[in-house]
Amino acid sequence: MSAQAREDRDTALRRAVIRACRELQPLGLTHGTSGNVSVRRDAGSFFVSPTGLPYASLEPEDVPLMTLQGRWYGRRRPSSEWRFHRDILAARPEAGAIVHGHPRHATALACTGRGIPAFHYMVAVAGGLDIRCAPYHTFGTQALSDAALEALRERRACLLAHHGIIALGADLASALSLAAEVENLAAQYATALAIGGVAVLDEDEMRRVVEKFRTYGRQDAADAELTHGGEALPGAR
Ligand code: 13P
Ligand code: ZN
Repeated sequence: MSAQAREDRDTALRRAVIRACRELQPLGLTHGTSGNVSVRRDAGSFFVSPTGLPYASLEPEDVPLMTLQGRWYGRRRPSSEWRFHRDILAARPEAGAIVHGHPRHATALACTGRGIPAFHYMVAVAGGLDIRCAPYHTFGTQALSDAALEALRERRACLLAHHGIIALGADLASALSLAAEVENLAAQYATALAIGGVAVLDEDEMRRVVEKFRTYGRQDAADAELTHGGEALPGAR
């Protein structure tokens, strides 16, 4: 790849980080400058949002590059949560992007130390039978990163006690949409808890749903009972 092509690709990734940061608030995923976003650049490095800057005024040059060794490059310091971004990207090769936020309902739930059990089948979008809540550790610490990584075992999202949520995805769009889904589930779960008597789906059913999600939404998904009659509607010439 030529130096110019690499620079263009880097600028596109930095712009993608800024766009994702600006979507946090409209998606209800954060408030003010809280939350942060990263995207993998290559096997050894990633772009991460800068610490403490208002998202509205960010320019591509404000988005620092970091290596998995913890070295950073650019004119702005990386997010205070660079450790969990680094550690997740290092441990989870399938993750291309990470979103962290303090959404209202998921954070409220995490302030009770609770994760989200299988009260609704959509909990399986995070990859398993529940969405765990990592124990509390001070923001920006290695202890928080270690706890988050453990809560994310075989999952694509987790809650952080007294803090917020983390979601990962193949790209920024899927990490953002999973984060929004976790927030929606937390709101539904909190409402169900308030009504009382919440029932939880059993493990066999959740395993079935996790399996179905592997092909959900794919146009090539197989269904023996569903026959395609062609694109033209019956009766049309
Ligand atoms: P940064 O502004 O440093 O990314 O921190 C925000 C945050 O949510 C810390 O957990
Ligand atoms: Zn945070």
